[in-house]
Amino acid sequence: MNQAEWYRRIPLWQDVPLEEWETYRWQMSNRIQDVDKLRQVLKLTPSEERAVSRKSGRFIMGIPPYWAALMDPDDAACPIRRQAVPVEDEYKLSPNDMIDPLGEDSHMPVPGLVHRYPDRVLLLVVEVCSMYCRFCTRSRVVGTTAGYSRPANIDAAVDYIKAHRKIRDVLISGGDPLTLSDERLDDVLAKLRAIPHVEFVRIGTRNPVTLPYRVTEALCAVLKKHKPWISLHFNHPKEVTLACRKACGMLADSGLPLGSQTVLMKGINDRAAIMKKLFHELLKIRVRPSYIYQCDPVKGTAHFRTPVSAGLQIIEKLRGHTSGYAVPTFVVDGPGGGGKIPLMPNYVVSVKDGVWTLRNFAGKVFTYHEETSGNGARTSSVEPSYVLIQ
Ligand SMILES: *Cc1c(COP(=O)(O)O)cnc(C)c1O
Ligand code: SF4
Repeated sequence: MNQAEWYRRIPLWQDVPLEEWETYRWQMSNRIQDVDKLRQVLKLTPSEERAVSRKSGRFIMGIPPYWAALMDPDDAACPIRRQAVPVEDEYKLSPNDMIDPLGEDSHMPVPGLVHRYPDRVLLLVVEVCSMYCRFCTRSRVVGTTAGYSRPANIDAAVDYIKAHRKIRDVLISGGDPLTLSDERLDDVLAKLRAIPHVEFVRIGTRNPVTLPYRVTEALCAVLKKHKPWISLHFNHPKEVTLACRKACGMLADSGLPLGSQTVLMKGINDRAAIMKKLFHELLKIRVRPSYIYQCDPVKGTAHFRTPVSAGLQIIEKLRGHTSGYAVPTFVVDGPGGGGKIPLMPNYVVSVKDGVWTLRNFAGKVFTYHEETSGNGARTSSVEPSYVLIQ
């Protein structure tokens, strides 16, 4: 067994040839969707067994063999496993839980198009993902038949964007847009690129992480034509495998800038050392971490949620202690549709009469004096309420 055929240790897949294993098509048609198959890959805990066997009210499960082979078969706390395998905690509802925590459905002028910020929109083009994340903010639509990928829906969204000249930025998401065929993707990108005021297009996708074989020369050729930025979604350093590095390398070599967002989750990545390792791994593959999200109060995800302070503590331990590019912005998406609200540790000790007393990453205190004009008046000032001093 050579290193490329690591998956063959799992009896279920021991006869699968590497050429087949490494295709998106084989991976998608052999996804794990029921308890019998999952049992052949993992030693299930009673909680997993019961949650996966439940027939009704369950958020869809779908695990590509690639992702399943990365899971620790004996450890239910494995971060790869916890992101993909349902547990009974998903049925313990919290009073904070919401179906649509970001209020997206109420900000849709046409189905699948969320227009929350003045200059940019979120365009949902499909409900399918290669792997269904247990904490998904859009669990109300992913894996369903909301119909976002219907050509008529996409055309209505494109018409809306055409008619609103202030929209200069389109974020294509879903579901996972890379579950569309290369041809469909080419078509959507071409339609958006044909709108003169759309100057920036990005694709939000987890496929290079959850099923990296989706990234092929043919896909790269399509993307190269339309030059979108790529927004990835990484949560743990274990996700940065050989195959994932190769996929990200192909995207970067195609000239596409790569960013990543991370969802903060209890027991998965809520320690600064894990986040730092993840972000260092990402810089190595030319991926720039952009956001850490406080876990949204999606129905059935209370067991993943950390205190907000956990995110602040992580930023405190990163900023100044490592490369600035490895430090994303920590945000809370305002429940009900507030958008991304950034939170930062407080570095302002005091501010008075243009004198800013600040602390640095190591806790040392420094003062910065604002300029005064000839008559002694300050040339700039700040509303005292703008700076929160603890
Ligand atoms: C996150 C998001 C965006 C993009 O926001 P950026 O801060 O530019 O990354 C746009 N629209 C919606 C609805 C979003 O949730
Ligand atoms: S890939 Fe994204 S949209 Fe799909 S289930 Fe995961 S978090 Fe949700």
